[in-house]
Amino acid sequence: MTGPQTSPARRISARVGGIAESATLAVDAKAKAKKAAGEDVVGFGAGEPDFPTPPAIVAAAEKACSDPKNHRYTPAGGLPELKAAIAEKTKRDSGFDVSAAQVLVTNGGKQAVYEAFATLLDPGDEVLLPAPYWTTYPEAIRLAGGVPVDVVTTEDAGYCVTVEQLEAARTPRTKVLLWCSPSNPTGAVASPELVEAVGRWAVEHGIWVVADEIYEHLVYGDAEHVSMPVAVPELADTCVVVNGVAKTYAMTGWRVGWLIGPADVVKAATNLQSHATSNVSNVAQVAALEAVRGDLSAVADMRSAFDRRRRTMVRMLNEIPGVTCPEPEGAFYCYPSVKGLLGKTLRGKVIESSAQLAELVLDEVGVAVVPGEAFGTPGYFRLSYALGDEDLEKGVSRLAALLAEAR
Ligand code: PMP
Repeated sequence: MTGPQTSPARRISARVGGIAESATLAVDAKAKAKKAAGEDVVGFGAGEPDFPTPPAIVAAAEKACSDPKNHRYTPAGGLPELKAAIAEKTKRDSGFDVSAAQVLVTNGGKQAVYEAFATLLDPGDEVLLPAPYWTTYPEAIRLAGGVPVDVVTTEDAGYCVTVEQLEAARTPRTKVLLWCSPSNPTGAVASPELVEAVGRWAVEHGIWVVADEIYEHLVYGDAEHVSMPVAVPELADTCVVVNGVAKTYAMTGWRVGWLIGPADVVKAATNLQSHATSNVSNVAQVAALEAVRGDLSAVADMRSAFDRRRRTMVRMLNEIPGVTCPEPEGAFYCYPSVKGLLGKTLRGKVIESSAQLAELVLDEVGVAVVPGEAFGTPGYFRLSYALGDEDLEKGVSRLAALLAEAR
């Protein structure tokens, strides 16, 4: 039978059919397949800490498993005690004063990102998206009917957007600015002055800010994470903060995040979640409660390991001819430009793009990196330094040896 219901063009909706495969997961899958086939692969693709979740958090979850009250549905927006603890933790860590009613517990920061856009955007609303950006943002914006508007930053500017750039991209349809500092994929941390200037600009033009603070505790050297609605309190009524336990407590697999916003936005987003997924797993929520109520010693330990690896990686990358990398000040990524290699020949192939080069690097020397195409800026690589020191040096050395052959 043919007809509108069965023709290939109609099988998948345009909305979902238009979603690109996550390029970061695709690289990871290819690297894992090679590993499974016995190849010696060093993976710089992963976006997660290589540490186990702290034992006290795991113990709290184990206990929660045998409590029958956790075997039942709980409020869709999150366990009341977790929402209260998140409000307290937010005040403690960033100084943002919010009530439990302003918190929605989500299935990871990822669901918070999607729900924030779904709650704020109508079809055609534009979202200013500083690039390089985390690969999920444009897809989440489009799924919600919005239009991502890239605002491209470069290594010379330390990958920090300016108010002038944002102003040049603003139109009457601009509704939201996406703000991610410390940044995935660049590791850039916006200065307190920049955070304040951007926040003031947003208030002046009535633009909402979705501020992704998931890497708030992973900052190095003199860098400091400043929460935009704290720097600019007038922004609080038009700001949604996204956060979660994944990166701070090495809990990526537990799937607990949250969004914080004005009560009406949180109520609307909770309604959405009540039909989409209901409550996040109670056991995972109890684990998150233990995490956010506890101290920050685990992230302090991870931070010193990441800091050491960051220095090693950025030094080794900058020694490679054709590669330049500003020093990342946060998160756990380096974002070098490989533009100096484009057009050269390597192992008999002309290097035409960072995507092609990333594939060549994986095939030739078993090193997995994510090409800048995944983050809206071709000509770059993203390398995570959330892996052991030895593997890190081995992988970057192999990459350096290969790239040095380019002529
Ligand atoms: N925001 C950013 C910038 C991220 O890098 C990630 C994870 N890669 C997330 C949000 C989501 O994290 P999760 O869903 O695991 O909590």
